[in-house]
Amino acid sequence: MIQLPCPWCGPRNVTEFRYAGERTPRPDPGTATPRQWRAYLYLRRNPCGVVEENWYHTAGCRRFFTLHRDTASNAVKETR
Ligand SMILES: [Zn+2]
Repeated sequence: MIQLPCPWCGPRNVTEFRYAGERTPRPDPGTATPRQWRAYLYLRRNPCGVVEENWYHTAGCRRFFTLHRDTASNAVKETR
């Protein structure tokens, strides 16, 4: 069983959460090209290792939060 530490509710089963994707820097709306917007909206790196991700606690506090997770071991390194 995988547990994720919600910053407001504490450690909970992963089935209580919804994965909201890798955290990627948003391009500047005033200068971004269509190619940069496409990359921001649709392309993901999906690396093996520590990734910064957004999660939503659907069965708990119903808040978004960010965590650093190792995709190889599912170990959570840091939560914000
Ligand atoms: Zn929560």
